[in-house]
Amino acid sequence: MGDTRNTYSEMLAAVQAFHDKHQLRQHGGEDLPYRVALMAEELGEISACVTKGKTQEALAEECADLLILLIGTAIAGDFNLEDAFWSKMGRLGDRESRIIEGRIRVSEFRET
Ligand SMILES: [Mg+2]
Repeated sequence: MGDTRNTYSEMLAAVQAFHDKHQLRQHGGEDLPYRVALMAEELGEISACVTKGKTQEALAEECADLLILLIGTAIAGDFNLEDAFWSKMGRLGDRESRIIEGRIRVSEFRET
């Protein structure tokens, strides 16, 4: 295999080491409402990259910030994000797509 830094387990270990280094769990950094706020903040930064025409490098960095927070939220919430990812990808593969107002959407399209 190639670069092990690309495996989820290595990414998880790196984020866990970051949490341990700063003792996030002991100081409220793993409280889920706080994490949701941090993720919203990063999503806003991603949005600003697009709406302000920032560089691809800047966009990649902000996406990495959000990914790091997501992995940390899996630590905080004690769930396996890798398993959840593959489970969901499998279910997405079974869904249909539609064009809605000019853009494609993949969803279950349940009628209410
Ligand atoms: Mg950021």
